Amino acid sequence: MLIKMKKSAQLIQSNNDECVMMNKKLDANCNSRISNHEVISMPFSSVSEAISWGAKMLLESIGDASLAERESKWLLESSAVSAGRDPLFLNQPDLTARVSSVFRSHIARRSRGEPLSYVIGEASFRGIDLFVTSDVLIPRPETEQLVDEILKLIPKAAEWQILDQGTGSGAIAIAVALERKLVHVTGIDKSTSAIDIAKKNVKRYGLENRIDIIEADIFPKEGLFDMIIANLPYVPDKVDLPKEISEWEPVLALRGGPTGMEVINRSIELSNKFLKPNGLLIYEIGEEQESGFREHWQNRFEFKKDLNNKIRFMIDRG
Ligand code: GLN
Repeated sequence: MLIKMKKSAQLIQSNNDECVMMNKKLDANCNSRISNHEVISMPFSSVSEAISWGAKMLLESIGDASLAERESKWLLESSAVSAGRDPLFLNQPDLTARVSSVFRSHIARRSRGEPLSYVIGEASFRGIDLFVTSDVLIPRPETEQLVDEILKLIPKAAEWQILDQGTGSGAIAIAVALERKLVHVTGIDKSTSAIDIAKKNVKRYGLENRIDIIEADIFPKEGLFDMIIANLPYVPDKVDLPKEISEWEPVLALRGGPTGMEVINRSIELSNKFLKPNGLLIYEIGEEQESGFREHWQNRFEFKKDLNNKIRFMIDRG
C-alpha cells in the first residue's frame, strides 16, 4: 500500500502544476486512484519554496510580480488558518501536507480569476474582519464612506431602530452598531445564503443582542424605524461590469433593474409605512443616477460624492 501511494504521489507530483491548474481533473484523476487526499499534494519543503511557487503560478493572471508574491504569501497564511494552523507556524521550516494541499487549491482558484477575498474567505471593512463567500458582495471602499455618512446622521446617544436593507455580509449593520452603542439594527436580505454569512459575522462581533438578521425582500413584516440605510443593487441590467465582478459576485446584489434604480425606488415608495415621523433615509447609488432620482422624487434628496468625486450617496434627512 505504501509503495503504491508513493508511486501515485510521484506520478502526480511530476505533473503537479497542470494538475493544480485544473483542479477538477485532479480530483477525478487522482482521487479515484488514491483516497488519501493528503498524498496528492506533496508538502513544500519550505515556506519560501511555497511562496515562490505560488507567485509564479499567479503571475500570468495578476501581471505584477511583486503583487503576485504578496498575494501568494497572503494565500499561504490563509491556507494555514484554513488548515487549522496558526499563521505563525509558517515561520517554521516545514509545511504540513494539509497546509500545502489547501495552498495549492487556493492558488488554483485565484489564478482562475476568483477574487482574493473569496479565496481567503474574508474581507476587511473599516477595520472589521468579515467572512465573505461569493454569496455576498465584497464590501467596497465607497460603502465604507456610506458608513461615514450614516454615522454623521446618528447622534452618539441615539437609541434608534435602524433598518439595513440588502445587508449581504452584514458589513454596514456591524460597522454602525460598533460605532453607535445604543442603536438596534435589523439587517434584511432576500438571499438565504447571505443571511447565513451575515449571522456568522454578527456572532463574530458578539452583536446578536443589537443586530437582528432577517430573511425577507426589502422590508420586514412589521416594524417602525428611525432610519433606513441601504446599499441595495443599483447597477442597470444592461451595463457591463468588469469580469472580476460579473463572473464572481452575486447578481442579486448588483443588478437593480432596467435603469438600476428600481429596487431603491421601491424601497422609497414603501418607506412611509416603516419610518417613524421625520425618519431618515440614506442610500448608496450609481454615479449616473442623480438626475433620474431628482426627477422621480422632485428634489426630495440631497446627494453626496464619494472619494473619487462621483455622486454616490442620497440622503433624506426627514
Ligand atoms: N458599487 C458596486 C460595484 O462596484 C455596486 C454595488 C451595488 O449595486 N450596490 O459594482
